[in-house]
Amino acid sequence: MWIFLNDRFVTEQDAKISVFDHGFLYGDGVYETIRSYGARIFMRDHHLSRLHRSADAIGLTVPIPPSEWPRLLHEAMDRNQLGNDQTDAYLRITVSRGVGEIGLDPALCQTPTVVIMAKPLHPPAAELYQRGVSLVIAQTRRNLPSALSPQIKATNFLNNILAKREAIAARVFDALLLNWEGHLTEGTVSNVFFISQGRLYTPSVECGLLDGITRTILLQMAGELKIPVHEGRFTPEELLHADECFLTNTSMEVMPVVSVNGQSIGHSTPGPLTRQLHRHFIDNRSRFLEP
Ligand code: PMP
Repeated sequence: MWIFLNDRFVTEQDAKISVFDHGFLYGDGVYETIRSYGARIFMRDHHLSRLHRSADAIGLTVPIPPSEWPRLLHEAMDRNQLGNDQTDAYLRITVSRGVGEIGLDPALCQTPTVVIMAKPLHPPAAELYQRGVSLVIAQTRRNLPSALSPQIKATNFLNNILAKREAIAARVFDALLLNWEGHLTEGTVSNVFFISQGRLYTPSVECGLLDGITRTILLQMAGELKIPVHEGRFTPEELLHADECFLTNTSMEVMPVVSVNGQSIGHSTPGPLTRQLHRHFIDNRSRFLEP
């Protein structure tokens, strides 16, 4: 695999960073996961804006000018024989504070570290979309917006990792995290939606969640399908009594959920509006691809 590291493409074996990198020492950095359909990148500029927003929020200056990213992303795909008719690409950009003496002061680091990885994208198995997946509600809470805002896509992801451990222990697909008030926020790497009596509900960004790019598109598509949308504060009980539920993110698109905490959602099969929304997403995603 060819990896972009700081200022050039190197092989996987040569893609090494220092043990003094503050990304490693303190989780001091930001990242984005992006995908392509063939050679075209889904919502590229939105992902790049979110990366720069996340970096700004932690006072990190991204050393790559925004206009350079498209060329670098395409070179990462080309060098790894990705982004063609056979293989969609999974792209990950990481920007850390960089190498510096031990200590929390960001000024100890002179130059941020930049990494771009490009791998073949492996979406979840078709069977999962057909049957739907199970979730648990994690004991671990999402971090407070006043601490590390969940809107910052930071490399410090421990709460979500602890929630993922709970999902693994329960042998289910994923976990949902609640916020400090016990309201629903999101999955460990996805946003959550539910449907009750023909209306679509999703926790609002103020609940403390990442404003997913797929979430934004999904809300727009629900509007196109004339499905009423409500963003707000919701309890786990409201979700457990819903007719349908699904998760969204860049690589999964729309994943139906059929049980939460061992309790069936709707009829324990992917619901009709979930299927309709995913179909509409598939039929229309080309509108959101950038060269
Ligand atoms: N929430 C979290 C915590 C995530 O890590 C992700 C994946 N980036 C999402 C939601 C979904 O975001 P997107 O639709 O932009 O992939």
